[in-house]
Amino acid sequence: MALTASLLIHAVVARSRANGPGERMTVWVQGCSLGCAGCFNPGTHAAGTARRTVAQLLAVAAAEPIEGVTLTGGEPLEQPDGVAALGAGLRRAGLGLIILTGYSRREIEAAPARLRAVADADLVVAGRYQRKAHLGGALRGSANKTYWWRTERYRHSDLDGVPDLEVIVGADGTMTITGMTAPTIG
Ligand code: SF4
Repeated sequence: MALTASLLIHAVVARSRANGPGERMTVWVQGCSLGCAGCFNPGTHAAGTARRTVAQLLAVAAAEPIEGVTLTGGEPLEQPDGVAALGAGLRRAGLGLIILTGYSRREIEAAPARLRAVADADLVVAGRYQRKAHLGGALRGSANKTYWWRTERYRHSDLDGVPDLEVIVGADGTMTITGMTAPTIG
């Protein structure tokens, strides 16, 4: 997959503790057509125009002492080529990959492009957000979402220590709030 592939981006945090095990670069992609009622991040639904190439994202990841990357959104699997290319690059770099998606495992397995997109993911958290089953913990927005452990890199106990919320204060004083109970980002 080409490093020139790109993703429409909503936000990137180079080091986060509230989006998976260890410190992780977290990428919120821009664009989602799934329309879950009560979505936590409606600002990510429109297609948007801000792009970053896979090479640019890998360079950010390489510059940080991180365990891996979490892709969320927006809907990562509506940009399958870029996600597949990023996943391949992360695998080559020895970094882990977690993808949070609104598509169910069955929907992913039924669509070759989506299946290719998760080929190098270690964990996929799959399924629509359901407001009536709201959870907001261990990377699941609602209780119907399923864990698809694709490698042995992570196990469920790795999610126990992931905080539900974090506040990151940048060197310039800007404040970013993220995590499963955070309102939105960006
Ligand atoms: S898939 Fe995620 S971003 Fe898309 S509408 Fe559902 S909760 Fe929101």
